[in-house]
Amino acid sequence: MVNIRCGSCSALLFRAGQGAIANDIEIKCRRCGTINHLRPVEPEPDRQERQARNNSCGSTSPRD
Ligand SMILES: [Zn+2]
Repeated sequence: MVNIRCGSCSALLFRAGQGAIANDIEIKCRRCGTINHLRPVEPEPDRQERQARNNSCGSTSPRD
């Protein structure tokens, strides 16, 4: 599951499983009113995932 967040205020819009988004989606943020246009492949959650992986890889040798 990935958290889909507002691009403007980062409010949680909804959560979706992988492949749950099959086409373009427009959703209005309830907090700030921004229309978020989502596509099947969201760049933001993917980027965060990669960063987390890189960080864990670099910090696995505490006795270096
Ligand atoms: Zn918002």
